[in-house]
Amino acid sequence: MRKWLSTQLQFGIQKDGINYRKNVTANLILCFAFLMLCFYTAVYFYNGEAPLFYTDGVLFMLFPLFLLLFRRKKNTLAHIALQIMGICLLYIIHINEGQHYLPIWSFIYIYVSMILYGHQKGLLLAIVYYFVVLSMLYSWTGHSLNIISYIRFTSVALLSVVISYLSEYLIFKIFNQLTETQKELEKTNKIDALTGLYNRGHFDDVFTKEINTTKRAHTLLAFAMLDIDYFKPFNDTYGHQIGDQALITVSNLLKSKLKRSNDAIFRLGGEEFALLFKVQNEKEAVYIVDDILNAVEELKIPHANSEMSRFLTVSCGLEVITAEHNLTEKQMYKSCDELLYKAKHAGRNRTSHSCNLKLLNYNKLQIVK
Ligand code: GH3
Ligand code: MG
Ligand code: MG
Repeated sequence: MRKWLSTQLQFGIQKDGINYRKNVTANLILCFAFLMLCFYTAVYFYNGEAPLFYTDGVLFMLFPLFLLLFRRKKNTLAHIALQIMGICLLYIIHINEGQHYLPIWSFIYIYVSMILYGHQKGLLLAIVYYFVVLSMLYSWTGHSLNIISYIRFTSVALLSVVISYLSEYLIFKIFNQLTETQKELEKTNKIDALTGLYNRGHFDDVFTKEINTTKRAHTLLAFAMLDIDYFKPFNDTYGHQIGDQALITVSNLLKSKLKRSNDAIFRLGGEEFALLFKVQNEKEAVYIVDDILNAVEELKIPHANSEMSRFLTVSCGLEVITAEHNLTEKQMYKSCDELLYKAKHAGRNRTSHSCNLKLLNYNKLQIVK
């Protein structure tokens, strides 16, 4: 029973704050209204005070019950139930000519409207609704309803609109702030603090997804691993701070070279980076990483203790992943790492890849096969 109820009321469903409120809270309040009306109908029934109310009360109760039984994922039924509830309330007020405190139930209608439609649309609905209720009650003032009751109802009505509006507005604001903070946190969790690139954790999240998308869409995904050459001697010569600055400069260069929305650059750790970008063919991938390698050297960051160049350079391992690849992401990573190692071994400041150069008709001496 508890499980059934929580499924019906959507307790366990993961939603953002505003949607949770619209779905679950609105549901709860509608159910609360239903239970209260059951109770009052029973009281009226045993007291035999308002015969006409019984049928309307039962009718009124059926809609939230309907909602409780048949509502699953969509919110449409809650909206329908609420509007029928409003019409029934007006009808009950009409046939009872404002007696038996029935207009008091309107307050629940207003509150649920604010939750379901948000504070702005809810306020509009509340104004229309109360305009109808007040004009109905006013038409009976003097014969079935006295002026004091009318004034009392009007002031409580206004107060309930103000309170519902304010509470909904504040809740909306708080939820919005929470969502913003959550987004901000998610973003900082993915980002490397020094370089502003994505971090290793995010790489692990993204890599498998990207490989799967590539295979499904039959596209080509270039995966490059870059490692700065002789970075330890660089640090030893110029100090850690200049080392950090060099990491930032290289990162900014990578950002400027890979700017398409699908391109992703990661700092895997230390002075190691990974690039993921879509290409039309293998030649394009080789061309892009080669251009990056040249551009790093062109930065002309002095490196007096490099055995390769007078400037800071990087080495690269490149894999172009296609639908035909049946390696797991771990094997893919290892294979790319081995290519990087090969590039280092062959003298550094070069790319090592598994693309077919003859097929590509691509001549670049520094590419290692
Ligand atoms: P290789 O050409 O073989 O890659 O030589 P290497 O000296 O770059 O290789 P190694 O991996 O031994 O050295 C990496 C160095 O990177 C060690 C460490 O001092 C430096 N390093 C790692 N992280 C940071 C960082 O955040 N800031 C700075 N300044 N240096 C870092
Ligand atoms: Mg290195
Ligand atoms: Mg390294």
